[in-house]
Amino acid sequence: MSKIYDVIIIGAGPAGLTAALYAGRARLSTLMIEKAREGGQIINTSEIANYPGSLETESGPTLIDRMDAQVKHFGAETVIDSVESVELAGEIKTIHGLENTYQAKAVIIATGAYPMNIGCPGEFDFVGRGVSYCATCDGAFFSGLDTFVVGGGDSAVEEAVFLTKFAKKVTIIHRRDELRAAKSIQEKAFANPKIDFMWDSVVKELSGDGLLEKMITENVKTGELTEYHVNPEDGTFGVFVFIGYKPQSELYQEQIEMEKGYIITDEDMRTNIPGVFAAGDIRRKSLRQVVTAAADGAIAAVQAEKYIESMK
Ligand code: NAP
Repeated sequence: MSKIYDVIIIGAGPAGLTAALYAGRARLSTLMIEKAREGGQIINTSEIANYPGSLETESGPTLIDRMDAQVKHFGAETVIDSVESVELAGEIKTIHGLENTYQAKAVIIATGAYPMNIGCPGEFDFVGRGVSYCATCDGAFFSGLDTFVVGGGDSAVEEAVFLTKFAKKVTIIHRRDELRAAKSIQEKAFANPKIDFMWDSVVKELSGDGLLEKMITENVKTGELTEYHVNPEDGTFGVFVFIGYKPQSELYQEQIEMEKGYIITDEDMRTNIPGVFAAGDIRRKSLRQVVTAAADGAIAAVQAEKYIESMK
């Protein structure tokens, strides 16, 4: 632990990579720490159609590979390590990883938020082949197909309404017999003739031969199992899961102000601790997309540079 970096970025999804790009270009000595591999959630996305300028064949991995190459070109260092604890107060911040300890004048937290999973057999096997966690990203792929939305909160109901633009029919599968979503959002769903409800139900199993073709649901009150089989003319159907998100923020809970686990920042990505910034899905914000994550990362890096300048 000899080097004190200007900036340490924790997390290498689109927010972290963009922060690293901007910090590198500003000639700040920059270290990006990622626990597994670059990319965050979007490495699970098979097509990215809504990031400005993305190629027709763009996937999460191809976009991330190009972002990563750009980051390296501008000189940011990257390391694979799992951050275990942080000391953020004071002028020099200390990050303790499993492998090493790192220090910097400024820290940008970009560890993201991950959609919660149903946890049923088959769910992960069909991500990108029927199962999705993002209607904005994937809704258009289900044009003219039957689509199911799991969950009863604001996200599930709002996204179900959005999906009616594409789907033949949208069925909301909710584990209770009343929605959690705000009344105004519920009203839109109840008034939409393309939306149906499957109450008191949970998804037990998803399966198919390549693409998603079959779903088993259980009525939690009666225990009755129901099988849904794809219409052979359709080939597949969609299951969109919106049962809440989990921000990766546990490490910072004692030190940084949050709301429901999301870090509160101002519009310059500053947290309540001087020199500590947050960017991307881990922030309290209204739209969690690659484009907003990238924008946050750019702002955080520029503000970190200004902060470091002000320390002199
Ligand atoms: P949420 O409010 O936590 O709702 C999660 C939904 O999923 C609930 O209906 C819950 O059922 C269900 N659920 C949870 N775990 C489940 C499981 N294992 N199996 C099946 N169902 C499960 O999450 P969210 O809808 O993503 O919203 C997150 C936050 O963002 C909320 O504060 C919300 O108000 C806010 N938000 C606001 C807007 C807006 O204002 N326009 C839009 C989107 C999100 P129960 O109801 O039975 O618990």
